[in-house]
Amino acid sequence: MPSHLSTDQLAELRVALAAQRDELKRQLEGQLGDVSRVEHARELIEKDVDDAAQQDSERDIDQIRTEQMMADFAAITLALERMDRSDFGLCRDCGEPIEFLRLRARPWVVSCVRCQTAREQTQGRHTATI
Ligand SMILES: [Zn+2]
Repeated sequence: MPSHLSTDQLAELRVALAAQRDELKRQLEGQLGDVSRVEHARELIEKDVDDAAQQDSERDIDQIRTEQMMADFAAITLALERMDRSDFGLCRDCGEPIEFLRLRARPWVVSCVRCQTAREQTQGRHTATI
């Protein structure tokens, strides 16, 4: 068990991850025939996509939404697996413990704030050049 997280904290995160995974699964399953779920999914997108990407057409937003949801779903599934392997909560890049408050906000994160910021800056440059 990661030393910086208590049993209670891990349990809380596990519940949150399971709930998020169920919600995403429902959305992905309902997506083919049900566009009424767009609004909630868009909230997810807006947390992770730059402003420029939000100016795109509805179809592009749909595609981004689907890809984002699938990526989130995969990340959540991996996070649950990491909990069982005991390396949950450690930064994938630098190995430092990820703060509990950060994990509570987004339990599937795999990087600490510093490494995540560095990666997002790289991705932001990539999307902004279009
Ligand atoms: Zn790191």
